[in-house]
Amino acid sequence: MHVAEITQPVTDLPGVGPTRSEDLSRLGITTIGDLLLHVPREYEDRATPVPFAGAEPSRAVNTVAQVVAHSYVGGGQKRTLKVHVRDETGIGVLVCFGRNFLARSLPEGKTIRIYGVFTHRYGDLQATAFEFEDAAAAPRKFGMILPVYPLAGSLSQSDLRKATAAAVRRYGRNVTQELPNSLVERRGLLPTARALEAIHLPASLDEPAKGLKTLVYLELFFLQLAIGIRSAERQRSSRPPRSLPRGFADRLAGNLTFALTADQQTVMREIVTDLEAGIPMARLLQGDVGSGKTIVALLSALMVVEAGHQVALMAPTELLARQHADATARLFAAAALDVSVALLSGTISTSSRKPLITAIASGSVDLVIGTHAVFTPDVAFRNLAYVIIDEQHRFGVLQRAALLQKARRPDVLFMTATPIPRTLALTVFGDMKVSSIREMPAGRRPIETHLARHGNEAKVYEFVRRELAAGRQAYFVYPRIDDTGALALRDAESMWQTLQDQVYPEFSVGLVHSRIADEQKRETMEQFRRGELDVLVATSVVEVGVDVPNATCMVVEHAERFGLAALHQLRGRVGRGVHQSYCFLVYAEELTDAAKERLKVMHATTDGFEIAEEDLRIRGPGDIAGTQQAGYLRLRIAVLARDMGTMNEARTDAFDILEVDPFLTGPAHVPLAKSLDAARAMNRHTPFSYSETEEST
Ligand code: ADP
Ligand code: MG
Repeated sequence: MHVAEITQPVTDLPGVGPTRSEDLSRLGITTIGDLLLHVPREYEDRATPVPFAGAEPSRAVNTVAQVVAHSYVGGGQKRTLKVHVRDETGIGVLVCFGRNFLARSLPEGKTIRIYGVFTHRYGDLQATAFEFEDAAAAPRKFGMILPVYPLAGSLSQSDLRKATAAAVRRYGRNVTQELPNSLVERRGLLPTARALEAIHLPASLDEPAKGLKTLVYLELFFLQLAIGIRSAERQRSSRPPRSLPRGFADRLAGNLTFALTADQQTVMREIVTDLEAGIPMARLLQGDVGSGKTIVALLSALMVVEAGHQVALMAPTELLARQHADATARLFAAAALDVSVALLSGTISTSSRKPLITAIASGSVDLVIGTHAVFTPDVAFRNLAYVIIDEQHRFGVLQRAALLQKARRPDVLFMTATPIPRTLALTVFGDMKVSSIREMPAGRRPIETHLARHGNEAKVYEFVRRELAAGRQAYFVYPRIDDTGALALRDAESMWQTLQDQVYPEFSVGLVHSRIADEQKRETMEQFRRGELDVLVATSVVEVGVDVPNATCMVVEHAERFGLAALHQLRGRVGRGVHQSYCFLVYAEELTDAAKERLKVMHATTDGFEIAEEDLRIRGPGDIAGTQQAGYLRLRIAVLARDMGTMNEARTDAFDILEVDPFLTGPAHVPLAKSLDAARAMNRHTPFSYSETEEST
């Protein structure tokens, strides 16, 4: 049995009822298999004795001591018990804030085991947070290595320890080892069941690292196997090479107000070569925001449409899908192209959706543009042959898969403005070919980026006023929608009022964020695009793809709270026209080192490829739990920046196996094939990993 096959709900475990299972689900844990893969963030060493004499702020005391005295500090309500205890090396003081009742369980003369961080204060060696148990009884929480888990809700460490221990004992120990023994030995791994035990119930301090390495390896190994097999399957699904007609594409190209850049032409050739080849295309098109990926996608789509097939273009947001549809309709109309384009939007009414779906099914719609929300099972195509996925990193693997299933062996073009660092491109997207547009259309001036400390933003506002007065437009972006009260953060709603009423009363200011109704949001965006609004206040909903060439100022307040990729995307909203553009990053006083580095990078370069490499470097090994990995692939256990070495090992090993046994039919590889099948049946692309869409606000 593979871990992913342990699909029993966590509520099957003792002590896990509705409340705890609700809290666990917030950690992404619903099955016992999920729980087994919940990796502790650190461990407490309750096995190695550390006497009072060995206490350090970074080293907890773990000793056996006798209660020698009680005393009290403060008076009245605040009277606080201090329990003085002595081990062989000295005296420690347990400060029992709010726990004076401990006087009874810690009488003078009693011997206890103690664990806690002790520091020197007021002449004493004291601890305010500590755990103890009766030394006369058998150890329950001592003499072992205790995992410390990421928590959620009202879960306690002890809840999780109990649940994972039960999960390991009842289920984890039955997990089979799918890897051939030779690999386990060569890479210094543990059998899978042992690895789970080493993670959750380690017998010594060096076990967790070995267990973790094994789980990371397994996750990446299966990922690479899945990639390799997907690639082999595509190679197998060959078709006769074809020659595509170019009439429509030439007509559109001839009608553009600009000429394609050399990079766009190269990329176009690469795509067409793939589309005409005997094996379906899987290509990643990367190019900075504004580099002109869309027109390339449309030109290639027209060739497939002219050949009599349907094409789907999937965008990550409603806004972007609509923008693509509008721009496409305008371009096609201007070139007098008789190609029917439909926007299949999540917000259209059921009554207009029905005929649209019928039209798609009958083949009378050539190009369907929409978001993932609309490619539901009721949408069937007559002959979908080419799928283009814009800003691919915003989609989960499953959402992409759902769309791809609507076609037989479609050609697929993934587009992204978040360039994949080279190392990742080779590994995670290892079965795809990569095209890059590095050159910006002629006439674009590099955006000037300025950093401003919070408090100096008046100068920024004045600068922006001059731009507005000259007829340009500006974005103001905030990390929050409204004032949650919890943090002293500026938010979009309050600043919209401030900017409109106090800062720019002579201009018109609009507001968009994800809680504004779609209809209203659309209207506001449209007004901004038409120039009827001078300023657009927003959250990061404007991050992806919005195209208003007349906008020259991007002001991001609390820039320290945005990731590099997001900042780069935001900056890409300006500099799209002929005017000089500016990006102002306004930051708060207190900056973390990482935030400081991010701002420096933004100031130093506008090259998206460089920014992506820097992003990976800055996030570095500290970025555990993988929550920040969105953008590429969200892995459950592995952290790509940290585990690149293991990734390379896993890739080599997986491809070595596929080299001799491409479809894992050999007897030695049957367990691997079974695990992959199980994962597929569960709609996961590997038994370990999964990926989800990231909400943009
Ligand atoms: P991306 O999707 O890569 O961020 P877009 O495709 O939205 O970029 O293109 C940005 C803008 O540049 C669009 O308005 C588009 O019409 C324009 N554009 C594209 N290619 C060229 C070119 N070669 N010369 C001038 N403008 C271009
Ligand atoms: Mg785009």
